[in-house]
Amino acid sequence: MSRVIVVGAGINGVTAAIELKKRGHRVILIDPGPLPHPLAASTDISKAVRAAYGPDEGYTDLAERAVKLWRKWNEEFGIELYHEVFDIELYHQVGVMFVRQRKMKPGDFEYESLKILKQRGHNIERMNSAQAWKRFPAWNANLYPDGILELEAGYVESTRVVATLIERAKSLGIELREAARFSCLDERDDRIAGVVLADGERIAGDLVLMAVGAWTPYLLPFTKKFFRASGQPVFHLKPSQPELFAPERFPVFGADITTTGYYGFPINRDGVVKIANHSPGREISPDSSERVVTAEEERDLREFLSSTFPVLADAPIVHTRVCMYCDTHDGHLWIARDPDREGLLIAAGDSGHGFKFAPVLGEIIASAVEETPNPILQKFRWRPDVRAGSGTDVARSNAKTSNAQRQTSNDEIKGA
Ligand SMILES: Cc1cc2nc3c(=O)[nH]c(=O)nc-3n(C[C@H](O)[C@H](O)[C@H](O)COP(=O)(O)OP(=O)(O)OC[C@H]3O[C@@H](n4cnc5c(N)ncnc54)[C@H](O)[C@@H]3O)c2cc1C
Repeated sequence: MSRVIVVGAGINGVTAAIELKKRGHRVILIDPGPLPHPLAASTDISKAVRAAYGPDEGYTDLAERAVKLWRKWNEEFGIELYHEVFDIELYHQVGVMFVRQRKMKPGDFEYESLKILKQRGHNIERMNSAQAWKRFPAWNANLYPDGILELEAGYVESTRVVATLIERAKSLGIELREAARFSCLDERDDRIAGVVLADGERIAGDLVLMAVGAWTPYLLPFTKKFFRASGQPVFHLKPSQPELFAPERFPVFGADITTTGYYGFPINRDGVVKIANHSPGREISPDSSERVVTAEEERDLREFLSSTFPVLADAPIVHTRVCMYCDTHDGHLWIARDPDREGLLIAAGDSGHGFKFAPVLGEIIASAVEETPNPILQKFRWRPDVRAGSGTDVARSNAKTSNAQRQTSNDEIKGA
């Protein structure tokens, strides 16, 4: 059994630490904290969980396994959480809707998702009739003539998930070093022997597992050619008619997401509706002072709201945040040992869609640590050969701003 130093206690780091500990490894988990770290991508009120991945059955399969375990986690952790809150679920199966501003056609993310999910026996509805839309009054349904509603999908409360897993890690005896900041690798001639902290302390280990998300290209500069840290705007709105945004009337959604980038969630227990944008975003460091939502991003949101959710057009924005993706050139996760640095493994590259896999992430990362076969690791392999722009998450817009893109699609719809 080896001594593994896990750097970063977001969802990648904490799930890996727990699984490795369970398999008998000695584990140290390092993070500057406080945990869940306020700047971490994993720290958020909600993350979507969907099996819809267009033609990519590898991710659909992974999501199916994850959803089964999310339900299990609801039971397993529900008891522990009961004392804290009454609404104990971490995963809320409220459905996820992906709709388009025109009829779906072959090649579309939504069309290909419908095909695959039907083949795999999912409970899925087509959103192409007034009858189907009647349940969802907040929408300007005229704008969205077609789409899908995936019923066995929903969202998780990611901050609560990480907080729960941190407690689990402590209870398993994992050595948690909060207020410890990684500075650099302790490189010896032939291998990585451990890490050096910002205060100069050296920690030795058999393997260093770097799980620092969007910080990766900054903490390990040689990875800048593989990873790009991109900032994505997130908005919390307070609707004046909260009843219209209850889960049964407002499932998680993607509004022509490959065109506009916009997606969002039903109202939560604090009366907030979260809406965010899944697009190229802005390249910035996670610690940058520019990590704030811009006036242009807010204007873009307002334009989107006024066309798609008129009742939200003037709703007050009570919180904004720029959340960080660790992008890879093809949009796939990156979980692999460094072939040139013995003793180093990187688990990053979320590209904005990794949280839903949390219940299976620990096992996948542990397979990479133990170098045991796991088919999905081929997709997440060390791949410096992949060129920039080779692809993204199939549900992601590639438009710089959704205004421009919306203009194009409106022209398209008008057949201009
Ligand atoms: C806006 C947004 C929306 C998203 N929506 C979804 C969604 O709907 N569904 C989905 O599945 N996924 C979604 N994701 C992706 C998901 O958030 C990520 O896959 C996941 O959170 C990545 O986790 P991580 O552990 O790699 O990184 P993080 O959660 O960022 O954790 C990295 C950790 O590294 C630590 N760290 C930083 N510097 C140091 C240092 N010097 N020393 C030690 N530790 C350090 C940080 O403190 C932090 O705790 C979204 C991401 C964003 C940004």
